[in-house]
Amino acid sequence: MTKLYYDLHTHTVWSDGELGPASLIAHAARAGVRVLALTDHDTMAGIDEAAAAAQAAGIRFVPGVELSVTWQGLTVHIVGLALDAGDARLCRALEALREARLRRGRAMVSALAAAGLGDAGAVLERDGIVSRVHIADWLVAQGHARDRTGAFKRFLTRGGVGYVAGEWASLGEAVAWIHGAGGCAVLAHPTRYRLSGGRLQQLVRAFVEAGGAALEVVTAGLDVGEIGRLARLAQRHGLCASAGSDFHKALPWRLLPGGLPGLPPNCTPVWHSWPEALPQEIG
Ligand code: AMP
Ligand code: MN
Ligand code: MN
Ligand code: MN
Repeated sequence: MTKLYYDLHTHTVWSDGELGPASLIAHAARAGVRVLALTDHDTMAGIDEAAAAAQAAGIRFVPGVELSVTWQGLTVHIVGLALDAGDARLCRALEALREARLRRGRAMVSALAAAGLGDAGAVLERDGIVSRVHIADWLVAQGHARDRTGAFKRFLTRGGVGYVAGEWASLGEAVAWIHGAGGCAVLAHPTRYRLSGGRLQQLVRAFVEAGGAALEVVTAGLDVGEIGRLARLAQRHGLCASAGSDFHKALPWRLLPGGLPGLPPNCTPVWHSWPEALPQEIG
């Protein structure tokens, strides 16, 4: 079995991941990853530390980000790859998204207190972005839920007492910020939105119209059939293909970045136009 040694979708403690940037790189190096993108939600704060650790470990590093977008009432994630992390417009946009996250966080804390669940205010004090994941972990620590999944299901999704909708960017804005910073815009984990075939086509069409470049064809948890369907979807819409584990934390069933299956042969890899592109697979 060949192994893909690109991993273009990962998270650290700066968003909702468990590892710091240097630990993430160390884990990825041990797993045989050769090209890694850090794509924290709505922040690039981990980029410098990750880039330095990657250089020391001999991993090629790709600066990235994962932006939250609202499309037709649905939250969709757009990954930006190979970005200029100092781009002024992108930095302003990320700042605004983090402020929106803080406002939503305060509203969630108030809603939970009003429901008699206690004061989760300390969750807002962290250095990285404020995510529902952090509220979920607080609910688990307080004994209100058995695990994260339970906390999301009962309290933090539409209809739950702690749910507050995010004020995210539009698809057009997110793609424009990424391209303005010299990057590639990738529609992340397309199967995770649980859309019908027709609605997914609509989303992909809207993404293409907004100027999007690639579809995440390989991600953790997809079987060969699903990967094949996404590869055809990308091909039909003239999109390149990306691959990333969406690594957040070490789990018994999904330990590390790396180990993803290769892209199907009908795909144009998103990295085909990057300088010094490495071959996709090791023997
Ligand atoms: P947010 O961007 O703050 O709304 O939080 C969304 C993040 O929560 C996603 O990026 C996932 O990492 C995580 N997440 C979403 N749904 C669940 C779930 N049901 N169980 C555990 N984690 C989840
Ligand atoms: Mn996440
Ligand atoms: Mn995502
Ligand atoms: Mn992600």
